Amino acid sequence: MKIWCKSCGHSETTNKDFWVKLIGVAAPIGGFWAWVTFFFAGTGLALPICIAMVVCGVGMLAYKDKVVKWITDKGYNCPKCGKKDWELLQDD
Ligand SMILES: [Zn+2]
Repeated sequence: MKIWCKSCGHSETTNKDFWVKLIGVAAPIGGFWAWVTFFFAGTGLALPICIAMVVCGVGMLAYKDKVVKWITDKGYNCPKCGKKDWELLQDD
């Protein structure tokens, strides 16, 4: 899964490191549920979305509007052009 800047075309991979950076607290040690709890507490998003974020699979696309809104609310600017015009894309 990637986020893509609609303004300049810059893209970033939304791996666990990306989410940890965005949430801004230390990453948990542990398995699947440790990460789900981490996202649930850190993002305030619904549990199915957090599970999708951990799995980082196609499931996340179903919630892309919510995830993009959260990234925008979090104030994550494009490192290239400084805008917050993100779109969630599947890896190709
Ligand atoms: Zn940009």
